[in-house]
Amino acid sequence: MIITNKKTHDTTHKTIQLFGGRLTKIRKAVISSLGEGCCLLTKEELIKKLKNKKINPDRSTIYRELQFLTKNHIILKNTISGKDYYEIPKDHHHHLICLKCSLIIKVDITNHLKKQEKQIAKQNQFNIINHSLEFYGYCHACGQAR
Ligand SMILES: [Zn+2]
Ligand SMILES: [Zn+2]
Ligand SMILES: [Zn+2]
Repeated sequence: MIITNKKTHDTTHKTIQLFGGRLTKIRKAVISSLGEGCCLLTKEELIKKLKNKKINPDRSTIYRELQFLTKNHIILKNTISGKDYYEIPKDHHHHLICLKCSLIIKVDITNHLKKQEKQIAKQNQFNIINHSLEFYGYCHACGQAR
Protein backbone atom coordinates (compact mmCIF):
# COMPACT_ATOMS: atom_id res chain seq x y z
CA MET A 1 0.00 0.00 0.00
CA ILE A 2 1.26 3.44 -0.88
CA ILE A 3 -0.18 6.60 0.59
CA THR A 4 -0.50 9.24 -2.09
CA ASN A 5 -1.48 12.83 -1.62
CA LYS A 6 -0.26 14.04 -4.96
CA LYS A 7 -2.42 16.49 -6.82
CA THR A 8 -3.28 15.59 -10.37
CA HIS A 9 -4.23 18.55 -12.49
CA ASP A 10 -4.27 16.90 -15.90
CA THR A 11 -7.42 14.90 -15.50
CA THR A 12 -9.32 17.88 -14.19
CA HIS A 13 -8.51 19.77 -17.36
CA LYS A 14 -9.49 16.80 -19.47
CA THR A 15 -12.75 16.53 -17.58
CA ILE A 16 -13.43 20.19 -18.17
CA GLN A 17 -12.67 19.82 -21.86
CA LEU A 18 -15.28 17.09 -22.13
CA PHE A 19 -17.88 19.70 -21.37
CA GLY A 20 -16.83 21.97 -24.17
CA GLY A 21 -19.00 25.07 -24.36
CA ARG A 22 -21.48 23.93 -21.75
CA LEU A 23 -19.05 24.53 -18.98
CA THR A 24 -20.53 27.19 -16.76
CA LYS A 25 -18.45 29.25 -14.38
CA ILE A 26 -19.85 27.53 -11.34
CA ARG A 27 -19.46 24.07 -12.86
CA LYS A 28 -15.87 24.80 -13.73
CA ALA A 29 -15.22 26.06 -10.21
CA VAL A 30 -16.80 22.96 -8.65
CA ILE A 31 -14.75 20.62 -10.82
CA SER A 32 -11.49 22.44 -10.27
CA SER A 33 -12.11 22.76 -6.53
CA LEU A 34 -12.75 19.05 -6.24
CA GLY A 35 -9.68 18.40 -8.38
CA GLU A 36 -7.51 20.44 -6.04
CA GLY A 37 -8.51 18.44 -3.02
CA CYS A 38 -6.44 15.32 -2.77
CA CYS A 39 -9.46 13.22 -2.17
CA LEU A 40 -13.00 13.19 -0.81
CA LEU A 41 -14.60 16.51 0.08
CA THR A 42 -17.87 17.21 1.82
CA LYS A 43 -20.28 19.77 0.40
CA GLU A 44 -19.30 22.14 3.21
CA GLU A 45 -15.60 21.80 2.40
CA LEU A 46 -16.39 22.40 -1.25
CA ILE A 47 -18.38 25.55 -0.45
CA LYS A 48 -15.44 26.78 1.64
CA LYS A 49 -13.10 26.25 -1.30
CA LEU A 50 -15.47 28.09 -3.63
CA LYS A 51 -15.67 31.00 -1.20
CA ASN A 52 -11.87 31.20 -1.27
CA LYS A 53 -12.25 31.71 -5.01
CA LYS A 54 -14.75 34.48 -4.34
CA ILE A 55 -17.61 32.35 -5.57
CA ASN A 56 -20.67 32.27 -3.36
CA PRO A 57 -23.29 29.99 -4.85
CA ASP A 58 -26.42 29.28 -2.88
CA ARG A 59 -26.87 25.82 -1.47
CA SER A 60 -29.48 24.71 -3.98
CA THR A 61 -27.19 25.65 -6.87
CA ILE A 62 -24.38 23.60 -5.36
CA TYR A 63 -26.79 20.76 -4.71
CA ARG A 64 -28.03 20.75 -8.32
CA GLU A 65 -24.48 21.01 -9.64
CA LEU A 66 -23.29 18.08 -7.53
CA GLN A 67 -26.29 16.03 -8.62
CA PHE A 68 -25.67 16.78 -12.26
CA LEU A 69 -21.96 15.99 -12.09
CA THR A 70 -22.57 12.79 -10.14
CA LYS A 71 -25.25 11.66 -12.57
CA ASN A 72 -22.89 12.22 -15.49
CA HIS A 73 -20.05 10.36 -13.74
CA ILE A 74 -17.84 13.44 -13.78
CA ILE A 75 -17.56 13.22 -10.02
CA LEU A 76 -18.08 10.38 -7.58
CA LYS A 77 -20.36 10.49 -4.60
CA ASN A 78 -19.37 8.41 -1.62
CA THR A 79 -21.51 8.17 1.49
CA ILE A 80 -19.43 7.39 4.55
CA SER A 81 -21.04 7.12 7.99
CA GLY A 82 -24.11 8.90 6.67
CA LYS A 83 -22.13 11.84 5.29
CA ASP A 84 -21.87 12.55 1.58
CA TYR A 85 -18.44 13.08 0.09
CA TYR A 86 -17.51 13.97 -3.46
CA GLU A 87 -14.39 13.51 -5.51
CA ILE A 88 -13.14 13.40 -9.07
CA PRO A 89 -12.40 9.83 -10.10
CA LYS A 90 -9.05 10.79 -11.58
CA ASP A 91 -7.22 7.73 -10.34
CA HIS A 92 -8.70 4.58 -8.91
CA HIS A 93 -7.98 4.33 -5.21
CA HIS A 94 -9.42 3.38 -1.86
CA HIS A 95 -9.73 5.11 1.47
CA LEU A 96 -8.71 4.64 5.07
CA ILE A 97 -11.28 6.38 7.23
CA CYS A 98 -10.79 7.23 10.89
CA LEU A 99 -13.97 6.62 12.85
CA LYS A 100 -13.01 9.15 15.49
CA CYS A 101 -11.70 12.24 13.70
CA SER A 102 -12.98 11.45 10.16
CA LEU A 103 -9.48 11.68 8.71
CA ILE A 104 -9.42 10.24 5.23
CA ILE A 105 -6.24 8.79 3.77
CA LYS A 106 -6.11 7.93 0.12
CA VAL A 107 -4.53 4.56 -0.63
CA ASP A 108 -3.52 2.72 -3.75
CA ILE A 109 -3.61 -1.03 -3.65
CA THR A 110 -1.41 -2.46 -6.34
CA ASN A 111 -2.66 -5.55 -8.09
CA HIS A 112 -5.69 -5.39 -5.92
CA LEU A 113 -8.90 -7.27 -6.29
CA LYS A 114 -8.62 -7.62 -10.06
CA LYS A 115 -8.58 -11.40 -10.02
CA GLN A 116 -11.34 -11.60 -7.46
CA GLU A 117 -13.40 -9.06 -9.31
CA LYS A 118 -13.22 -11.20 -12.43
CA GLN A 119 -14.24 -14.27 -10.46
CA ILE A 120 -17.14 -12.50 -8.80
CA ALA A 121 -18.31 -11.17 -12.15
CA LYS A 122 -18.20 -14.63 -13.68
CA GLN A 123 -19.89 -16.38 -10.76
CA ASN A 124 -22.73 -13.92 -10.68
CA GLN A 125 -22.88 -13.23 -14.41
CA PHE A 126 -22.56 -9.61 -13.52
CA ASN A 127 -20.84 -7.01 -15.66
CA ILE A 128 -18.79 -5.12 -13.07
CA ILE A 129 -17.69 -1.68 -14.20
CA ASN A 130 -16.31 -0.31 -10.96
CA HIS A 131 -16.09 -0.86 -7.23
CA SER A 132 -15.47 1.14 -4.10
CA LEU A 133 -13.80 -0.12 -0.99
CA GLU A 134 -13.15 1.77 2.21
CA PHE A 135 -11.25 0.70 5.30
CA TYR A 136 -12.54 1.87 8.66
CA GLY A 137 -10.53 2.20 11.83
CA TYR A 138 -8.47 4.66 13.86
CA CYS A 139 -5.69 6.90 12.66
CA HIS A 140 -2.34 7.18 14.39
CA ALA A 141 -3.35 10.28 16.36
CA CYS A 142 -6.57 8.69 17.56
CA GLY A 143 -4.67 5.52 18.40
CA GLN A 144 -6.57 2.69 19.97
CA ALA A 145 -9.60 4.77 20.89
CA ARG A 146 -12.81 2.82 20.97
ZN1 LIG B 1 -10.47 9.52 -2.68
ZN1 LIG C 1 -10.00 -0.90 -6.32
ZN1 LIG D 1 -8.40 9.92 13.81
